[in-house]
Amino acid sequence: MTVSCVFCSSDGGEVLWRDELCRIVLAREEHHPLLLRVIHARHVREMSDLPAAERARLMERVFAAELALRELLAPEKLNLASLGNVVPHVHWHVVPRWKDDAHFPSPIWSAPERPSRSLVVDEPLRARLRERLATLLSSA
Ligand SMILES: [Zn+2]
Repeated sequence: MTVSCVFCSSDGGEVLWRDELCRIVLAREEHHPLLLRVIHARHVREMSDLPAAERARLMERVFAAELALRELLAPEKLNLASLGNVVPHVHWHVVPRWKDDAHFPSPIWSAPERPSRSLVVDEPLRARLRERLATLLSSA
């Protein structure tokens, strides 16, 4: 635990699913309100700091987040990214992309090229995401 780390001191978003290894949160980023983050439960700096089996389990959760977004939203593309330059605590961004989103086809961290696509992230959608993640990860 590092007190100055935002992912150690807070959930980092609305928790949709959680187990002892990690949590999957709806990050509510300004231009990408359906961005999911898969955040390791412990303050680990790099993927290669994790035992191999734990890496594999974490990636199962990343892929479940990707599948849930694909099934419910049918985006143009799914982006997976693990940077950690700002918050060096292992986490993956799982980002549904559309041709008319603010940054497409550039990375979401680039300068916006157009106004954001309007996306409604209401409770029914969040409930469907929670249910889908729970189903996909029920045997994980
Ligand atoms: Zn941390």
